[in-house]
Amino acid sequence: MAVFTLPTELMDFYKDHLEFISEHAVDPDMRRYVVKEEAPRHYIDIDHYGEDCFKIVPREWDEAVAKFSEDTLQAYGIVPWHVKRMYVRLINAFKEKDIPYILKTSADIGHYIADAHVPLHTTENYNGQLTNQKGIHGFWESRLPELYAEDYNYFIGRAEMVKDPLATIWTAVERSHNAVDSVLEFERALNDDFPSDRKYAFEERGRSTVKVYSRDYSAEYHQMLDNMVERRMRASIITIGSFWYSAWLEAGQPELNGEIDPKDWEEIEAEKKQLEADYHAKPVKSREHDE
Ligand SMILES: [Zn+2]
Repeated sequence: MAVFTLPTELMDFYKDHLEFISEHAVDPDMRRYVVKEEAPRHYIDIDHYGEDCFKIVPREWDEAVAKFSEDTLQAYGIVPWHVKRMYVRLINAFKEKDIPYILKTSADIGHYIADAHVPLHTTENYNGQLTNQKGIHGFWESRLPELYAEDYNYFIGRAEMVKDPLATIWTAVERSHNAVDSVLEFERALNDDFPSDRKYAFEERGRSTVKVYSRDYSAEYHQMLDNMVERRMRASIITIGSFWYSAWLEAGQPELNGEIDPKDWEEIEAEKKQLEADYHAKPVKSREHDE
């Protein structure tokens, strides 16, 4: 979706590789089960740092490490800093006109930026586990979009130059975090009101039957959130487009119509195959421990 926020020249490039981007957009989540360092890149439990967390935690990585130690930062999540790191990597990939690497890094950074826009990726209570609301992570992030994403408005506007990438991603995290109270409180209120025997339902997914939040329950929650999921998603899409666009600008707007060495593709596809194999080799139980 972010592809359509881009200026024509760059949009055409990404359009040619849409399939690659959407296929690889899920790689970071798979990597969580394979690479130990991966998980903290997807979130920041910012409220761990106290009431005034956004004032307390330095925006710059080095300053944050000096204040809290790298171990602490890793323990509570590093998404804003990781987005910055990926951004630098993307600029370099553009400079080198390394197309497979541009695409892979674009998919990666897109994933992390999207995560930073999800309120429950910014709190220690990421799955409502501290307030007896277990499951709310997937409810907000997957179930509501599954039911309503086709009604969202995807006319989003144009990607813009990101002057200060770190500040931009921190703003996204802060806005996400500001929504955490509503995400939790609305569900809590709804849960108190709603007949408990109608809260969940069973639906078919392929050949299996899964327990989901019922359509009625979801509809009520959707109403209460007043398009919050859509708003966060739209903000995420424009931010992703803007980071891609800015990285390309920073790299001097390289032309990207060169031939790709088939070896480069093979390398990336082999990597992906390995990732999938490693992922599927993990017991389902540990894979489900997603939120
Ligand atoms: Zn993620």
